[in-house]
Amino acid sequence: MARAATVTIDLDAIAHNYRVAKSQAPGQKALAVVKANAYGHGAIDVAKKLQAEADGFAVACIEEAVELRDAGVTGPIVLLEGFFTADELDYISANNIWTAVHNDFQLEAIAAAEVAQPLNVWLKLDTGMHRLGFTPEEYKVAYQRLQAMPQVGSVTMLSHFTSADDMSSPVTRHQIEIYDSVNQACPSPMSFANSAATMKHSAAHHDWQRPGIILYGSSPFEGEADVQAQLKPAMTLTSEVIAIHDLQVGDAIGYNGTWVCEQPTRVGTVAMGYADGYPRQAKNGTPVMVSGQRTKIIGRVSMDMLTVDLTGIDAGLGSTVEFWGENLLANEVAPYCGTISYTLFTGITRRVHRKVKG
Ligand SMILES: *Cc1c(COP(=O)(O)O)cnc(C)c1O
Repeated sequence: MARAATVTIDLDAIAHNYRVAKSQAPGQKALAVVKANAYGHGAIDVAKKLQAEADGFAVACIEEAVELRDAGVTGPIVLLEGFFTADELDYISANNIWTAVHNDFQLEAIAAAEVAQPLNVWLKLDTGMHRLGFTPEEYKVAYQRLQAMPQVGSVTMLSHFTSADDMSSPVTRHQIEIYDSVNQACPSPMSFANSAATMKHSAAHHDWQRPGIILYGSSPFEGEADVQAQLKPAMTLTSEVIAIHDLQVGDAIGYNGTWVCEQPTRVGTVAMGYADGYPRQAKNGTPVMVSGQRTKIIGRVSMDMLTVDLTGIDAGLGSTVEFWGENLLANEVAPYCGTISYTLFTGITRRVHRKVKG
């Protein structure tokens, strides 16, 4: 007795995917990236599921780390963007939070801080992303300064790949050359590999991998099958058919009539819309599964509903509709919406019922 829009999270699938990530670089460690509420899967549930085996977790900011600590998650948590204000350092040092350092403000704040425990700093080197981090020359200066600070217990080198998901790009090799040469001058443990590099660039495996999207069962590589075949989708988004209409040739469906029936068409209205996180950008023809049969969206996605083609489909009122998940990969849906699986996963809103299994 409720609107059926539901997201089901399979924690066993996430544990499986974490093991796949770990097995790529035997003997090395892997942070489970659980930023953005574990890519929409529920950071507390995911971290608790993984905490017996994960070497640590990565989040974007202290709010996300506090949420995990408050829920009883122990073990290292890395702040991938470090701290934003100096007053965060008290909590960071008292709660075994490891922090990225990517700018001079953060360096000075550490130098001026009194810390409960020496900090574990992840010093960010910009190898080409040009988003955060020090240039190689700046890095060497920052590294020397941190080594001399009593507030700092250890330094790990951190950098991020721009194009690890593109096997034809020469950029990854170039980034590796940059950090290798800087690490020779500034020796420390290293962390570079996101999901794509974890799966396909063994030259980038060092002390700490940082898999994100693969934990949630989605390959970062477009149009390839071997990585995807090793992963289990962890999020399944479903709802139900709430109305059915038989339309005639020339009938238009939904806002602005973007779909006009060229043949007699049975259309199903489904309780799922952009206010649930299903993208309004989804084009006519975007695949969906109705009662286990593949069909497509016809007409524009509205706030609370969307419409699917039920012509020739064995379905009725109350039939289950899957938008992505176990039977339809988010990676297959995303291109129809001009996006990637990451935004589909992080976009689910609070109106959607949440079920957790495993
Ligand atoms: C989000 C993020 C990751 C994980 O990336 P995926 O592509 O999801 O594996 C790794 N490192 C950093 C710095 C990130 O911001």
